[in-house]
Amino acid sequence: MTKPITLTIDGQKVTVPAGTTIYDAAKAAGIEIPVICYHPHLSANGLCRLCSVDVGGRVQAAACVTAAAEGVAVKTQSDDVRRGRRTILEMLASTVNLVEAPEILAYMEEYGADTSRFDGGEKRTASVYDDNPFYLRDYNQCINCWRCVQVCAEDAQYAFALSFDGRGFHTQIGTFMGDGMTDTTCVFCGQCVGVCPTGALKPKRQAMLEQGVSPDEIFQQTRRKRKKKRG
Ligand code: SF4
Repeated sequence: MTKPITLTIDGQKVTVPAGTTIYDAAKAAGIEIPVICYHPHLSANGLCRLCSVDVGGRVQAAACVTAAAEGVAVKTQSDDVRRGRRTILEMLASTVNLVEAPEILAYMEEYGADTSRFDGGEKRTASVYDDNPFYLRDYNQCINCWRCVQVCAEDAQYAFALSFDGRGFHTQIGTFMGDGMTDTTCVFCGQCVGVCPTGALKPKRQAMLEQGVSPDEIFQQTRRKRKKKRG
């Protein structure tokens, strides 16, 4: 059996099984590290870097993908760490529409993010896809957290309907060859909508209710009509 690891997090000694991430070790000690792209039921990818912590006073590492190491001292709220988080949040605010991302907005408050700091920066503009009866995809609200891709792939559904599309600043989530959702391998399980932290993926009925469409009209538009039996 592998020896457990003992490290210090914010001055508190924590002993965890080898291989435990810093994020989980902190959680075991009652210390919450902020996350955006991380979801407890999905593979961690360390994409957003909001969970970065100070490890040994020398490097910052993404806590969701970095294993706890014997004897290291981790700081989750040092000045540098907090400044880094603030900048990440400010950059997100400058490029993406976050009005329906309550957790990220709460982090902005907590870390004192100045949402106008990069006001002159280029916005990431993308299409809104209304191509199926179940959900809308508004990639103007997408932060490329990869959660929807993971849940659609090996983490849950094995449908592989979603992936990255484009490159660099213009990278966004898309389908193979840009096909409409009904022409992909999507099975409309809704799990991608459930894990999306920003409202980029939204149930169509919710979107229509928000637009003031009546429940009867929504029913007509989102239900497939049954064919009448003959004779
Ligand atoms: S659509 Fe939502 S879940 Fe998918 S990458 Fe964008 S923000 Fe994340």
